[in-house]
Amino acid sequence: MLNSWPWLAAVGIFVAWFSYRYAWWSSTVSWAYPRILMYHMIRPPIRGARFNSIRVSPEVFEWQLKWFTDHGFVFLTMADLAKGVRQERAVVLTFDDGFEDNYTAAFPLLKKYGARATLYLVAERHDGRDWSTQKKAHHDTGELLKEPKLSDEQVREMVDSGVFELGAHTKTHVNLSKASGEEKRSEIIGSKKLLEEQFTVPVTSFAYPFGIWDPQDRDVVKEGGFSTAVTTDRGVTPYPYENPLELRRIKVSGREGKFAFRLRLRTGRRSLWK
Ligand SMILES: [Zn+2]
Repeated sequence: MLNSWPWLAAVGIFVAWFSYRYAWWSSTVSWAYPRILMYHMIRPPIRGARFNSIRVSPEVFEWQLKWFTDHGFVFLTMADLAKGVRQERAVVLTFDDGFEDNYTAAFPLLKKYGARATLYLVAERHDGRDWSTQKKAHHDTGELLKEPKLSDEQVREMVDSGVFELGAHTKTHVNLSKASGEEKRSEIIGSKKLLEEQFTVPVTSFAYPFGIWDPQDRDVVKEGGFSTAVTTDRGVTPYPYENPLELRRIKVSGREGKFAFRLRLRTGRRSLWK
């Protein structure tokens, strides 16, 4: 008789690994709570690059938009959430930083699917500094510096179309934990003023650079008159919001497949630690 123990052991190890990697048993977060998704770039990955998790290819992004449409999701903005708009299966697509592919790749696809999105734009994004080194000095590879950023004309067209809502992401993508009180105010409140003057639209939502923030930063955000602020803490915040300046997001990773994407949408997480 064939000895089945090695096979059973192999299957057992696989199930254990799969369960650990994908926390598929996590319960579904109520669909009455809007999902806020975090994107950066819509472009193909670069072989061997460090930041490929924030590069979602256009094909994958289109599959996601179609999936939302096929499953009855509605696309809201952060301003909608601030107003308390109630809608089952709501999703808010957010884009951080202001990469040029948001215009060349994401914008046409959003129009095609009748979707909307929020753009957290770095106000002074053409000053030639490498933002990623603000978090960790060893990230000084210039990888993100080389990625083209949105021009002011592109931003204007995106915002004027009504497809994009504009949000603030500080002036220089500063690491707030290293900034003085005065710098925090200038970066947070100053970026709102800059964007509002430049693009003549209200800017009511804020994204903490690198997802780094503390209660003092949040108080400055509040003082600046923002009605919502998003972090990079994973998950789905219960709605209506108790603390609208500390909202969680679902990270859309260019390194993950459809299974992980759907799991994150349903549970707010992909695994025990992500
Ligand atoms: Zn950022």
